[in-house]
Amino acid sequence: MTTTSDIASIADGTVIDPHMTMDDQEQKSVLIIYTGGTMGMKPDENGSLAPVPGYLVQVLNEMPEMHRPEMPKYDIIEYNPLIDSSSMGPAEWVKIATDIQTHYLAYDGFVVCMGTDTMGYAASALSFMLENLGKPVIFTGSLIPQYEVYSDARRNLLVSIIYAMSCDIPEVCICFNDNLMRGNRSKKVNSVGMAAFESPNYPQLAVLGTVIRYRHHLALKPPKSSLRVHKKLCGDAVVIKLAPGFNDEVLFSLVRHTEKKFLKAIVLELYGTGNGPSNKQGLLDAISCAQGKGIMVVGVSQCVKGSVSLDSYALGREFMRRGVIPCEDMTTEACVTKIAYLLGRGNNDVEYVRKFLTIDLRGELTPREKAGSKFFDVTKNESKSRLSSRL
Ligand code: ASP
Repeated sequence: MTTTSDIASIADGTVIDPHMTMDDQEQKSVLIIYTGGTMGMKPDENGSLAPVPGYLVQVLNEMPEMHRPEMPKYDIIEYNPLIDSSSMGPAEWVKIATDIQTHYLAYDGFVVCMGTDTMGYAASALSFMLENLGKPVIFTGSLIPQYEVYSDARRNLLVSIIYAMSCDIPEVCICFNDNLMRGNRSKKVNSVGMAAFESPNYPQLAVLGTVIRYRHHLALKPPKSSLRVHKKLCGDAVVIKLAPGFNDEVLFSLVRHTEKKFLKAIVLELYGTGNGPSNKQGLLDAISCAQGKGIMVVGVSQCVKGSVSLDSYALGREFMRRGVIPCEDMTTEACVTKIAYLLGRGNNDVEYVRKFLTIDLRGELTPREKAGSKFFDVTKNESKSRLSSRL
């Protein structure tokens, strides 16, 4: 821990009474976990961006906004070394989960600052690892370093802290470009635009304008039991994206020469609603060969929006006949991290994964009976929140 501010705070996710005095308000607190990423980088002697230990902490402490009475008291954990998110994986996700677990009772919410490249995977993984989560865990980062005059870092950080202290949404979320999205529904969709993340198959959980509009009716329900943190993850899965003209014999050969002790699941990124080429026998052979070895094959869509349902086309039915599991509207990020989590929980038993993969565990997929229902009436029951009494 490097920092503490002793400032009073505000906000509880519904309309704030502007006449309330600070003495009436419960003082909120937020833990910020800074793992690395562009946000806290500066150019090195060669002009390449590199993380600078202590820099983001210093910036945050010097931000006048952080010392305003509306803001929470906060502490920061800075990782050593600071890691680019492209080098992060299960070990780092376990570290983040452990830090949240250790400090769970002491804070109202958590902000995880990390690189954007694999944030969708980290947020998905944490959503599965943190069972019965009762507080907001908000992932954020930036495309431009805070160091630059023109940057999204400051705003993403401040808005995430505001969400963490006030949103009352017991979920792992991503906050980017003012929007609050369910973590396991989010994807990085833009490498140069400020709206770098989207949640294509699920509405945003909050939208920030002159007021914050929270959609609590779309959020997960508060848990009935206490937090359980699952730290066993298994990364023995690969993602294979189909492309027209691919060499299916190479795919078959890859599967033929591997063993279940190294590979437990293949996530196939299929076309559209779950389609693939009907003239590639090697693909079908690869699927059957995998099944024969006890390696599961699951299907997600290459489309960012929509769902996989293998009953639309003849080939999809053939995939199903050979045991491919359609993963509904899960993102690839949610699918692979859910497999890692389920393999860990089920002691690498593929049958255990098969049983739970298409069941909605943390809001990561839309159960068929809910698709297209009033469930998606996003503006119904919105609750408004204001940070400033002047708005
Ligand atoms: N390469 C960086 C990372 O993901 C990019 C970023 O921070 O957005 O760590």
